[in-house]
Amino acid sequence: MQKLKKEALKRAWAEISLSSLKSNVEKCRSLLPEGVEMMSVVKANCYGHGIENVIPCLENDCGVSKFAVSNLVEAAELRDLGLKGSILILGYTPPKNAADLLELDVVQAITDADYAAELSKSCPAGKKVRCHLAVDTGMTRIGIRGDEKQLVSQAEEIFLLPGLCVEGIFTHLSSADSADPDDVKYTEAQIEKLLALKDGLAKRGVTFAETHFLNSAGAAYHPDPRGSLARFGIMQFGLSPNAELELPVRLKPVMQLKAAVSQVKTVEAGADVSYGRTFTTQRETRVAVVTIGYADGYPRLLSGKAEVLIKGRRAKILGRVCMDQMMIDVTDIEGVREGDVVTLFGSDGDESITADQLAQKIGTIGYEIVCGISPRVPRIAVE
Ligand SMILES: *Cc1c(COP(=O)(O)O)cnc(C)c1O
Repeated sequence: MQKLKKEALKRAWAEISLSSLKSNVEKCRSLLPEGVEMMSVVKANCYGHGIENVIPCLENDCGVSKFAVSNLVEAAELRDLGLKGSILILGYTPPKNAADLLELDVVQAITDADYAAELSKSCPAGKKVRCHLAVDTGMTRIGIRGDEKQLVSQAEEIFLLPGLCVEGIFTHLSSADSADPDDVKYTEAQIEKLLALKDGLAKRGVTFAETHFLNSAGAAYHPDPRGSLARFGIMQFGLSPNAELELPVRLKPVMQLKAAVSQVKTVEAGADVSYGRTFTTQRETRVAVVTIGYADGYPRLLSGKAEVLIKGRRAKILGRVCMDQMMIDVTDIEGVREGDVVTLFGSDGDESITADQLAQKIGTIGYEIVCGISPRVPRIAVE
């Protein structure tokens, strides 16, 4: 049998707009004060958008030279793709993998003094693992924690380890996407805490190249000029850190999720649709069956709650989303036929549905929608 490519099947696919990606990167950069450089956070397969298309676009077309991922395997995948830029691993790598960090020439986040000592010990003699020290200023996730004096002394100890080359310090903001005055104060205090550590270390003669604390929301709502880098994730992909709050720039969603109509049928009033009979037609209804389901990452929680786009019009999902299929109501849409394209999110004619809007219907965030699109969905680059 000839090899069948999933791209060719046109069953369920994600279109990745590289022109939107480039436009978003420019918008992200426009938010940054002079002297603050963009770092591209490309963890989780570029937030589900696919590294194969996105990484070359970011590195070659957008001129991004600093990247961040969540773990060592993601870093190796980027090197396999030929990425030349620097790679920071934002999460944990077991100390026994020190040699892999060296081989891939990646920069490792340091969680605390014990981890730093272990990693240094595991580093082959005469070599140094490049790293950035994580500082927990209020997220209560990875990083050293304590008052200013404690932070300075912990950091100093880590800077002295023979197997490490500490090139920077960073923290992660927990609530930069909030307009609540308490949260705004909290964010500012997080930033001040990191900068106080930097000053404290400088007084003791400890200096380093990079200081960073801004994520997308930080850059959008707290563009403090005192860092050297800003770590943009979600905004590159045209989604918002907080869909309820306006962004200072206009972004374009990079991913559109599409599928096809496999069958159209007319059913009588009183027909039960899909598993569990949660929906019963109230009138004679034209039902289109669509070739996508929750195994493709379209959330089953959207059953009966969301619409899709077809022929530039909105159509309701009828009953439960199945694993590989779903049914929609096309009674009021003329001429729907087998093979027609259905847009789950994206735009069609004058209508559009965003991943952020779908997320809001089920109490989550756009991040989870795009990251959840499953591996069986091919990512197809478009202009
Ligand atoms: C994921 C992540 C980011 C990017 O966050 P966005 O909200 O997507 O911009 C930045 N820094 C760290 C440490 C992260 O884990």
